Amino acid sequence: MTAHRSKWMDDDLHALRDLARSFCEQELEPNTEKFIEQHSVDRDLWNKAGELGLLCMSVPEEYGGGGGNFAHEAVLMEEQARVGDTAWGVSVHSTIVAHYVLTYGTEEQKRTWLPKMANGETVGAIAMTEPGTGSDLQAVKTKAVRDGDEYVVNGSKTFITNGGQADLIVVAAKTDTSAGASGISLLLVEADRAGFRRGRLLDKLGQKGQDTAELFFEDVRVPVSNLLGTAEGQGFLQLMQQLPQERLIIAIGAVAAIESALKHTLRYTKERHAFGKPLFAFQNTKFKLAEVATDATIARIFIDDCIAKHLRGELDIPTVAMAKWWTTERAMVAADECLQLHGGYGYMTEYPIARMWVDQRVQKIYAGTTEIMKEIIARSL
Ligand SMILES: Cc1cc2nc3c(=O)[nH]c(=O)nc-3n(C[C@H](O)[C@H](O)[C@H](O)COP(=O)(O)OP(=O)(O)OC[C@H]3O[C@@H](n4cnc5c(N)ncnc54)[C@H](O)[C@@H]3O)c2cc1C
Repeated sequence: MTAHRSKWMDDDLHALRDLARSFCEQELEPNTEKFIEQHSVDRDLWNKAGELGLLCMSVPEEYGGGGGNFAHEAVLMEEQARVGDTAWGVSVHSTIVAHYVLTYGTEEQKRTWLPKMANGETVGAIAMTEPGTGSDLQAVKTKAVRDGDEYVVNGSKTFITNGGQADLIVVAAKTDTSAGASGISLLLVEADRAGFRRGRLLDKLGQKGQDTAELFFEDVRVPVSNLLGTAEGQGFLQLMQQLPQERLIIAIGAVAAIESALKHTLRYTKERHAFGKPLFAFQNTKFKLAEVATDATIARIFIDDCIAKHLRGELDIPTVAMAKWWTTERAMVAADECLQLHGGYGYMTEYPIARMWVDQRVQKIYAGTTEIMKEIIARSL
């Protein structure tokens, strides 16, 4: 099979890929068990990545970032997925939270936060989901009530990636409780504010090394200068504008996961023997892997096209919704078929395919479920 070459890759990105690969192989892969046990990465992983310039690569240099673009983030995402790591919430930090600050933040907000996010001093999280609402974002109940020069924030959030370690949280809150979507604003809340509390790190089915947490806000006072942007009521629009990039990042991870499942399973089925021949010699094994290879190829070509369009500013919301639901569904199918071909060993967590199977499942749910993606697509038909 000829190796597919992504057209958006160039020499600079190849060099970055080498750096990202060695970082992921040295700092993530050997620490999988440790991260799972402690339900989080080591805090200094962020600082190490910052020193190497692996954080906020798509943020301009004047704000401490790498001065690159989305392709730089995509390379790191692919390398992280290649080693099967789901513990490190770097894409939420660099491609989501940093971009809210970069795109909507005032000059002061950008100068305050982005350099610290780029060097790993500050870890970012985004808190939209609440115990009572996820898909229906307009229904968020967290309130930010203006009191002089401050907002007083009350409410709770759940399932927040990087929730355990975050120092800066972009919080979706209602500044006008009588309005729906137009009453939502995004606020920057520092984790050392009085009244902010982290709940437990959630015990999940997979992605166990990720510090997904509940967050509580009880009369948390933040200055009005912590409103993201300059006007209230822009939050929903800001979320809708940024969610496509978040969904694209997830799709990129899903495609890398399909490729990785294929690679691991090819190796395994060529080495393991049954009935006097390698598993790969059975027609069923060959056909299943032929199917996964087909999915991997179609998914790669589609995602590369999405990345190229996104780099040109031409990726539309329905197309990214297609990429998100389809790649994550196919990744789950690939993980399941490939696990089956590992037999009992596929059920043992020391085999990467077992982890992939549990870790991939949530990709169909977060950042907009498969059903919501189909709603978005259907609206455009
Ligand atoms: C590991 C993990 C990490 C996460 N990280 C974050 C994070 O960092 N920040 C954050 O804010 N959130 C985060 N989330 C939350 C995630 O985005 C939500 O779980 C997701 O959007 C779904 O919301 P929900 O759980 O409330 O499900 P619900 O909205 O209650 O949906 C339940 C079911 O109903 C379906 N449904 C809902 N509405 C419709 C509709 N209109 N049409 C058809 N079907 C519908 C859904 O598709 C789903 O199948 C995370 C979740 C997980 C599990």
